[in-house]
Amino acid sequence: MSDLIIRMDAVKCNECGRIFSVREAGLQGYAEGELHVRFFACPHCGRLYNAGTTDGVQRELLKERGMLARQLQRTKTEDAAARLSKLWSETEEKMEARRAELTERGDRLLSARRGRI
Ligand SMILES: [Zn+2]
Repeated sequence: MSDLIIRMDAVKCNECGRIFSVREAGLQGYAEGELHVRFFACPHCGRLYNAGTTDGVQRELLKERGMLARQLQRTKTEDAAARLSKLWSETEEKMEARRAELTERGDRLLSARRGRI
């Protein structure tokens, strides 16, 4: 079973070409100002990979989306469910619209900090 899991999350490093398990490499966090980057490092050459970047606005949106999901679970009427569901989708769209730029900022931060995190 553990072999299967390792194979499933195996990635090939763009830098050194060796294969490793993201799970075994471990996710780490790095923050600079408002920007939070989750990343993992190739255990062979140390190349850093961005696994998700957020800023203050994105984290507020994440919180809001989680709150809407909890409200949706408790809702009793179809009207309320439809209204909450629409808000949930709008929040998700706002997050999605910001994702590419945040990823780019996270990538820039990681490459600037290479070998120093
Ligand atoms: Zn590597």
